[in-house]
Amino acid sequence: MNNLAKTLGVQPRKSLGQNFLVDPSVTQRIVDAAGIQPGDLVVEIGPGLGALTGLLAERAGEVVAIELDQALIPHLQSQLAGKTNVRIIHADALKVDYAELCAGRSVRIVANLPYYITSHAIRVLLESNIDWRSIVLTVQLEVAQRVTAKPPHMSTLAVSVQYYGAPELLFRLPPSAFYPQPEVDSATLRINPLQARRNIPAAEFFLWVKAGFSEPRKQLRNTIAKKLGISKGVTEDILIKSGITPERRPESITMQEWFDLVQTGISMRQQSDS
Ligand code: SAM
Repeated sequence: MNNLAKTLGVQPRKSLGQNFLVDPSVTQRIVDAAGIQPGDLVVEIGPGLGALTGLLAERAGEVVAIELDQALIPHLQSQLAGKTNVRIIHADALKVDYAELCAGRSVRIVANLPYYITSHAIRVLLESNIDWRSIVLTVQLEVAQRVTAKPPHMSTLAVSVQYYGAPELLFRLPPSAFYPQPEVDSATLRINPLQARRNIPAAEFFLWVKAGFSEPRKQLRNTIAKKLGISKGVTEDILIKSGITPERRPESITMQEWFDLVQTGISMRQQSDS
């Protein structure tokens, strides 16, 4: 185990989710998972003391590492001295303009994410409209399981990620892979790009999904009618025409069923408006 934080006398900040990777075989597996090709642009969120950054720099054309903790920047700079293809940015990764950062280039994202920003960071990345080739995230095991869930365990998080990409849970990591050790197990997941763009725009799609999940334990015919202001009768028609029994609950709905439901809903609303 390579405990650089201890060697450097760095006191990890819990408030910034600082659990540094200390197992070199794990860092290797995470970097392998990104499928980096020579010349690739890689963005790393939260490089910390550079456990992943150095390895990423050996494989990529360019690495942009975004770190919020000013106190870590000098350590990071000295760890990466000589790696001329790494750019360290001192910033909040939740507020970065990724489209501007990537400037039209495709990108691979790698992050051992601080737990407290996980869902927010995933949302920012997926909604940023950049051309990403892979997103490899190390997160709490429970979050990785929620992201990759299938019916009947769907949630807004699962539907949101699966709208933009195809997530897969690659491997689990024990607390001993980190310093300090977190209280829970972690996992590395990769979000793969879709073959084709979704044909329903996100804004319209999530209007229905959010309505459906507004009360996850309730039947879709009630929540959708209530949240979207459609009569119960019309809502039931939309569900039946989409092949969905109106009593079903949102956790059981497949991605394809969501698309069928939203598509049917849009056409029936248009018909009733004309
Ligand atoms: N990548 C390193 C590793 O694997 O050893 C560190 C991972 S540690 C779990 C998370 C890192 O993200 C810390 O260095 C922390 O300071 C940084 N961080 C926390 N919030 C951040 C934010 N909003 N933007 C950028 N970095 C952040």
